[in-house]
Amino acid sequence: MSECSHDCSNCSSASGCPSKNQPPKPDNSKYLKNTIVVMSGKGGVGKSTVSVNLAVSLALKGKNVGLLDVDIHGPSIPTMLHLQKEHVMSNGEKLFPVEKAGIKVISVGLLLENPDDAIIWRGPMKIGAIGQFINDVEWGELDYLIVDAPPGTGDEPLSVFQTITGKVSAIIVSTPQEVSAADVRKSLNFCKVMNVKVEGIIENMSGFVCPCCKTLTPIFSTGGGEKLAKEFNVPLLGKIPIEPEIGQSCDKGEVFAFTNAKSETGKIFSEIADKIIG
Ligand code: ADP
Repeated sequence: MSECSHDCSNCSSASGCPSKNQPPKPDNSKYLKNTIVVMSGKGGVGKSTVSVNLAVSLALKGKNVGLLDVDIHGPSIPTMLHLQKEHVMSNGEKLFPVEKAGIKVISVGLLLENPDDAIIWRGPMKIGAIGQFINDVEWGELDYLIVDAPPGTGDEPLSVFQTITGKVSAIIVSTPQEVSAADVRKSLNFCKVMNVKVEGIIENMSGFVCPCCKTLTPIFSTGGGEKLAKEFNVPLLGKIPIEPEIGQSCDKGEVFAFTNAKSETGKIFSEIADKIIG
């Protein structure tokens, strides 16, 4: 994001400048070295699944990783990690993330008294909360902060892009039957307008792996991920099949990439993590 670097006292445009005398943005680049926002055009395509498993795959490679859930109205990370009974602690100044499977986790769901409470916040409140999640959390020094954003191009990913002062990029998750849809293009165009680098596209639910014979059957159309990656000149980071074990791990509160790291699909998550590190 471009920021004014002028000293107001020496700037000829200062009188009409909207950023004049604004307090400087807190610098989070010292402890958040790489922030990756996981986005999608639609819900239910596996964005949270990818966020969790990618975060854990990076941690398994020895990286310090945080997972920030900015899906304010539908936080699913606490459920996915079976953290519904956990709460974020605070010392009045800083919030302390909850740890699971080697990663540090923050979600609005971890601040609620009752996990079924509805959050009824307008844009400015969401923007304020996201700012706190980034600047007022005791993250330690993170190699990667993975951000699970709600679907679309609204306040949440926008606030993350505007609050992070260090390196920030995006991953777009899609499914084979959806990849040609306009929603994915919108996410890619959003990143273009925001001048945010797209690490690549992940095609999730890309065929079905039979639990008995392990054969991969393409049940939806194929090739959409490649086509879109080519159109926008971004890498296709990987294709993750529909894997019954992913849903079952989720139900057990386990992270698939942690408990099934050596499986074929576990290796795909690991390869995606390698590409991100590379
Ligand atoms: P989103 O964050 O895009 O709304 P989720 O990650 O919550 O989507 O996934 C929706 C559902 O699909 C969850 O129940 C999840 O366990 C399941 N799911 C996601 N990806 C896969 C996959 N590759 N194989 C099997 N189930 C999956």
